[in-house]
Amino acid sequence: MLALQGDFREHIAALHAIGATACEVRTAAQLADVDALILPGGESTTIARLLIAFELLEPLRARLAAGLPAWGTCAGAILLARRVPGLDRPPIGVLDVTVDRNAFGRQLDSFEAELDVAGIAGGPVRAVFIRAPVIREPGPGVEVLARLADGRIVACRQGRVLATAFHPELTDDRRMHAAFVALADAALAAEGSAA
Ligand code: GLN
Repeated sequence: MLALQGDFREHIAALHAIGATACEVRTAAQLADVDALILPGGESTTIARLLIAFELLEPLRARLAAGLPAWGTCAGAILLARRVPGLDRPPIGVLDVTVDRNAFGRQLDSFEAELDVAGIAGGPVRAVFIRAPVIREPGPGVEVLARLADGRIVACRQGRVLATAFHPELTDDRRMHAAFVALADAALAAEGSAA
């Protein structure tokens, strides 16, 4: 769990609730030790700065290029994207999408919606949006997982990288965390059999 800023504690609690092991990552040595990484919601400009200050940006890019499973929620999704208009530091850039920050304006600063998410069985997910981004221009390798009723993309996946504009860690529904842990387990198993 990337723990530089934002709501990483809520993610860790969600992971513990489903029996997964989770630890806080703030150094390159800690990053080298994990099998998957969640990037939390928070303030993307702050986290982008801290990634550089903590000398994590390049090690993180290297691990992602080598296939580290990752999931970014909200600010975390912004950081994973390749194109982020208005972000004053380079994003990590592994996800071939454009992400517009604070896409819902003042009136809709935060809201909730019932979302059908591809791959999540058992009915819609209650999605909490807080000063949320939207995802645009998905590249050919990107699978759209969820859209709002108006068609805007709010969840997607490219290989082992997952992004949601909303915050599953802020509800009691653990299906998204379970899906990410399953993705990470599958990646580990694939690497184990390749070795
Ligand atoms: N608006 C925030 C940003 O641009 C993201 C909000 C969030 O993570 N809830 O970083």
